[in-house]
Amino acid sequence: VVVVASSADRTPRTDRHRVVVIGAGFGGLRVARGLADAPVDVTIVDANNFHTFQPLLYQVATAGLDTDDIAYPVRGIFRRQANVDVRLASVTAVDLDGRRVHTDRGEPLAYDTLVVAAGTVSHDFGIPGVAEHTLPLKTVSDAVALRSALLARFEDAALTADDGGGALDVVVCGGGPTGVEMAGGLAELYQRVLARDFPRLDVGGARITLVEAAGQLLGTFHPSLGERARRTLERRGVEVITSAPVARIDEGRVELAGGRVITAATIVWAAGVRASPVAELLGVELGRGGRIVVGADLDVPGHREVFAIGDVAIDPAAPLPQVAQPAIQGGRHVAAEIVRRLEGRPSEPFPYRDKGSMATIGRHDAVAEFPSGRRLHGIVGWLAWLVLHLVYLMGFRNRANVLVNWAWNYLTYDRASRLLSTRP
Ligand SMILES: Cc1cc2nc3c(=O)[nH]c(=O)nc-3n(C[C@H](O)[C@H](O)[C@H](O)COP(=O)(O)OP(=O)(O)OC[C@H]3O[C@@H](n4cnc5c(N)ncnc54)[C@H](O)[C@@H]3O)c2cc1C
Repeated sequence: VVVVASSADRTPRTDRHRVVVIGAGFGGLRVARGLADAPVDVTIVDANNFHTFQPLLYQVATAGLDTDDIAYPVRGIFRRQANVDVRLASVTAVDLDGRRVHTDRGEPLAYDTLVVAAGTVSHDFGIPGVAEHTLPLKTVSDAVALRSALLARFEDAALTADDGGGALDVVVCGGGPTGVEMAGGLAELYQRVLARDFPRLDVGGARITLVEAAGQLLGTFHPSLGERARRTLERRGVEVITSAPVARIDEGRVELAGGRVITAATIVWAAGVRASPVAELLGVELGRGGRIVVGADLDVPGHREVFAIGDVAIDPAAPLPQVAQPAIQGGRHVAAEIVRRLEGRPSEPFPYRDKGSMATIGRHDAVAEFPSGRRLHGIVGWLAWLVLHLVYLMGFRNRANVLVNWAWNYLTYDRASRLLSTRP
């Protein structure tokens, strides 16, 4: 007989199968939700008390949305799921033999099944100066810090009447979806909003430069879409430099391989990520980008009771991109796999279904491609991008807020979220 805990009693039952999930990102949430009706107790551990919808971080950084539009409290998500407990803590060690997860707060967590869904961190690829002199865009705090830095540059320039010499210039390093979206968002913020807020500054003279190491923008997309993104950005005033790996960064200065130097007061690092340091804590085999090597059913070879999913994991036989869908589908698969094993049914391989990729370049323009080979761009691509992001956003309130903000921004060319609450 399975005794399901009532919502009033969330004490984990020691006789039930214990699942610990590290990370409340796209993957971790799907695992816990997928176990709603299973006879297990789930503890989900995250360093933040909220889930972040990373695809819209660039909109927080460019003042289009506010933080709580794109983040959602983890406890709120599981309020009605009695078999889930939430721990706000950072994972500091994983003892695979003793089956325990150590965290910086509270007692170690014992598990029968462990799911690692800890995502990625910003990575500098060993390029000198990146850590010291650039602003990453990976977390909610990064996005707010970036927005504050940009707004503070404008306020300083207004005070000193110094808008020359690169005071308002920005270089975005990395021409993948994040860099393209950031550059497009910045161009809109500068031209449509800050130019009106600061009429005495020569905002039109500020340079926004996007630098990419490869020969095309959006390297994972068809070259025609990369070319389209370049043309749209250039039309909107962004200088795009491709085939130009960053060699080193100093304060206010980006040096490219070949010696070209670009100066800018703000340098954004959107060039890459590597697996969360949690991966190394396991002491198992790591693959490209420090990702945990997993088998076809997403468990860790030699440790059937440990799964890794999403950005932090890689199956070398079928590597998947570090985007939301592999994490979402991997989370659902692992939840089903845990139930299958508890019921003594055979394991099944992870059946990933590619749903396509998208990136927006700004108002009225986005690119999308689908496994069928179909490609979308322009306003149709942009509308598809808007709808999909609303659908996947967590929580009705967030969706409603984002919809209202987007409608407001669209109709008024304004950006509501440009408060400078803390001076950088
Ligand atoms: C700026 C940006 C834009 C993006 N845009 C898109 C897009 O348009 N479309 C798309 O499909 N994908 C996009 N992605 C990628 C997408 O967000 C990731 O692929 C997805 O979030 C991966 O999900 P995950 O569950 O593996 O990890 P995440 O969602 O990153 O979640 C990992 C969780 O683990 C927690 N964690 C990490 N270390 C610890 C620790 N030591 N202790 C406790 N908790 C820990 C983190 O706090 C986090 O909540 C974007 C990413 C970024 C950064």
